[in-house]
Amino acid sequence: MRRRLPPFVAGNWKMYLTRAEAGLLLDAVAKGAPALAPAELVVLPPYTTLAEASARLRGGPVAWGAQNLHWEDKGAFTGEISGPMLAEAGCRFVAVGHSERRKYFGETDETVNRRTLAALRAGLRPIVCVGETLEQREAGKMMDVIARQLEGGLAGLAAEPFGHIVLAYEPVWAIGTGRTAAPVQAEEVHGFIRGRLQEKVGKAAADCAIILYGGSVKTANAYSLFKEQNIDGFLVGGASLEAESFLGIAAEAVKAYKEVQ
Ligand code: PEP
Repeated sequence: MRRRLPPFVAGNWKMYLTRAEAGLLLDAVAKGAPALAPAELVVLPPYTTLAEASARLRGGPVAWGAQNLHWEDKGAFTGEISGPMLAEAGCRFVAVGHSERRKYFGETDETVNRRTLAALRAGLRPIVCVGETLEQREAGKMMDVIARQLEGGLAGLAAEPFGHIVLAYEPVWAIGTGRTAAPVQAEEVHGFIRGRLQEKVGKAAADCAIILYGGSVKTANAYSLFKEQNIDGFLVGGASLEAESFLGIAAEAVKAYKEVQ
């Protein structure tokens, strides 16, 4: 049986919160975090709030990161932000290939791969997102889609970076819809992802890889999801915008973790 990892819970704030609103949320998350050890908590605010995160979280247990990065380290790319810039802003994590970026901003498996490599180059830990649409699931193509996204997004990577990479399975039909994957549905894909990683980088690295579930995670469903063998934590959207629900999700995961160890 695979040894379970402590819960990893990341909040994707998307394009929400002013600096003042963010300051209140950051303080509340920082205050609640020590009681949630050994959970690893991460917030992914908009770029404009990264300085606020740095000011309020530095030296504490909550890490912060960004929601995207460019694949070049610098250059004439108006409107873009690079890995070294994020690292300088104190980020330790960066989301890559979120389904909203794939859907609205032309993200492809190839650009996911380039961004993942850029993140690693800058010393950032990428949170690489994969997930199928409802149409793909209903057409029985779910595992093909996930396999293709993993293959393309992680191309050229050997075993070593898997201590740094976080994967997130986020079924597109569950994001922001209130429709969560049932634990057994999520586990089916998480087990598949871990199996693919094992083929790619071997059992030891695959067992240590953090694989998150994302899609309408709430305090009420976090416990039963985390109980599944291959679900190591959560990428949380809507519920990460309030300290009570974000910390509540982490508390449920910690409760489940203590029972499954
Ligand atoms: C997300 O944006 O990654 C996400 C999972 O959103 P939500 O929790 O709101 O479904």
